[in-house]
Amino acid sequence: MIFSESNVPEKVVIIGSGPAGYTAAIYAARANLNPILYADEPRQDGAANIIPGGQLMFTTEVENYPGFPDGVLGPEMMQRFEAQARRFGMRVMPRMITRVDFSRRPFRLWDSDDQQIETHTVIVATGATADWLGIPGEQRLAASGGGVSACAVCDGALPMFRNQVLGVVGGGDSAVEESTYLTKFARKVCLIHRRDKLRASKVMQERAFKNEKIEVLWNKIPVEVLGESKITGVRLRDTVSQQLSTLELGGLFMAIGHTPATKFLAGHLDLDDKGYIRLKEPDRTSTSVDGVFCAGDVADHVYRQAVTAAGMGCKAAIDAERWLTEHGIE
Ligand code: NAP
Repeated sequence: MIFSESNVPEKVVIIGSGPAGYTAAIYAARANLNPILYADEPRQDGAANIIPGGQLMFTTEVENYPGFPDGVLGPEMMQRFEAQARRFGMRVMPRMITRVDFSRRPFRLWDSDDQQIETHTVIVATGATADWLGIPGEQRLAASGGGVSACAVCDGALPMFRNQVLGVVGGGDSAVEESTYLTKFARKVCLIHRRDKLRASKVMQERAFKNEKIEVLWNKIPVEVLGESKITGVRLRDTVSQQLSTLELGGLFMAIGHTPATKFLAGHLDLDDKGYIRLKEPDRTSTSVDGVFCAGDVADHVYRQAVTAAGMGCKAAIDAERWLTEHGIE
């Protein structure tokens, strides 16, 4: 199916089907921009199981999104986002965008079936995926809500983690910040780091070292997550002596970095050294290419929340709408 059958370029194409993409679609559709949203197609990419809907499709209970006082399951929340955008006329293409040409106007995009689409503006909302260790037990207990997570802010307040000994893996700002955050609920937090020095900023390190509930386990790396339906602990390997040990835990949080989904944009948009889209101006959604906007985790390595992504999706749609008006494209 080709949407631009009349050879008239689209006004706005949204790439990505998480909270940022769907919120951009709701705003763009209600502004009569007749948006098309490219949602990822369900597929296996190496070890990763890719499904449309973004990171919340891998989340169990979401308790921190306003408007859901009793919480909501991540996949159900994404179905609601989609239904709301469809109600206003959003069209969905179940394909990835694999190639772009921003060097001429209208822009050209190609999907995974090599179908080309032309558009005056683009909103990139392809997100970022949490990095995982890839060890036995990890994905099984993460997918089943068995106590393994890659987002302490999202999941840390769940009843299952209260008064438990929790593990956090990593040594960067996220790991230290999330360890400190988890001490609000946990009996104790073990920060598990593979080296003998943290990468996190000095001020965050000092805050963590002063916190009596945080113990840093230096030179340790998890090699297996233990437990059947719920985590009971981890097997650790000492990276110096190679000795194995067991640590009992009631929860494990990965904080070893994220990878933004921007490979197809390399050389076309200004990206930072980790691949995140660089904003042209702070607090706006414009990128290095006039008419290309971005929203959500693809440009945000700090907050990474559904609600902040949705907020930025709203801003990107408003920016695209203003851009079209300024350029006389009705
Ligand atoms: P990061 O800085 O890349 O740190 C990742 C950590 O995970 C590193 O300590 C790394 O160890 C460890 N790691 C990576 N792969 C591993 C593996 N396979 N096994 C075990 N450990 C592994 O990532 P981040 O902490 O998510 O931060 C990303 C960016 O966001 C940074 O620029 C950070 O400053 C920023 N950030 C800022 C704030 C804030 O200002 N409040 C909060 C969060 C993040 P090594 O140290 O040995 O490489």
